[in-house]
Amino acid sequence: MTNPNSQPAHEGSEPGSLLVVGSVALDHVRTPAGVADESLGGAATFFSVAATILHRPVYLVGVVGEDFPEEVIEMLSGRGIDCSGLDRREGRTFRWKGYYEGDMNEAVTEETHLNVFGDFVPNLSSKFRQADYVFLANIDPTLQLKVLDQIEKPRIVGADTMNFWIQSKTDELREVISRVDLMVLNDAEAILLTGETNLVRAAEKVLEMGPDIVAVKKGAHGALVLGRDDRVLVPAVPLSEIVDPTGAGDSFAGGMMASLANQNAELGNFDALRTAVGYGSVIASFNCESFSIERLKELQVPMIEERLQALRNYSTF
Ligand code: AMP
Repeated sequence: MTNPNSQPAHEGSEPGSLLVVGSVALDHVRTPAGVADESLGGAATFFSVAATILHRPVYLVGVVGEDFPEEVIEMLSGRGIDCSGLDRREGRTFRWKGYYEGDMNEAVTEETHLNVFGDFVPNLSSKFRQADYVFLANIDPTLQLKVLDQIEKPRIVGADTMNFWIQSKTDELREVISRVDLMVLNDAEAILLTGETNLVRAAEKVLEMGPDIVAVKKGAHGALVLGRDDRVLVPAVPLSEIVDPTGAGDSFAGGMMASLANQNAELGNFDALRTAVGYGSVIASFNCESFSIERLKELQVPMIEERLQALRNYSTF
């Protein structure tokens, strides 16, 4: 299949390069604040847009259909996202339809159409295979495994998932979890995956499945991060108004991985992880202030630093 955005593969990856594979989507989202139709979404989209606020380059691996706007790919490329691994195939782009109610902590999925993701097989260029940091954002765990099989010697490999895959591809997902360094889940997913009702115990059980770090996102209640010897609880930025939380988890992961890459972090560096989780929390908060990537798109580093300082002030006692 052709990829009109292909660029010649470079010999090696750039230092500190961050690779993400995951969904690139057109979403239909309803929240108490309104409705967005055919709006740009997808886990890898939110992740890479969030990450490039802090860190470049970001390599994007995914697939879109013939209906995906070319201007969006140009916009992503213009932000420093290397889209040479974003294939365009015959057929329709991945679509997700969902809504949020009440405290908007959990999305209710109405429709998931894998479309071109149904038979996508990622084939990474030699440059992409050598990325230093890798994130397997939410997508079929079978695809996450295919990327894991191709990457060479990354410093840190993280992964995310959601209830859809926990229920439909449990074995493949467990293999992914056993092979990554850092697993990111939200509270409901950790409980669904482990069968535990106590969240700390659920996180400990995920840790027992293999990764060295488990980050449990608790929406408005922040994130609980467990390592083998250390733990940290980072609050969410207190927001009095939320427009749309879609992509908050992916933006959290994008901010966190970008910060780890900026710090040149090795897996055992828990202090670097503490800082990174702070950035993730702040970027996720901005994400909730608009539909799609509208708010993320306009963010500059000083806005993030200012909010990070406010979050630190908030949580000092
Ligand atoms: P988040 O709110 O961070 O969990 O992620 C939201 C994004 O995940 C949306 O933009 C959707 O397009 C995407 N998404 C929804 N369901 C799936 C799925 N089953 N696999 C991959 N991505 C999905």
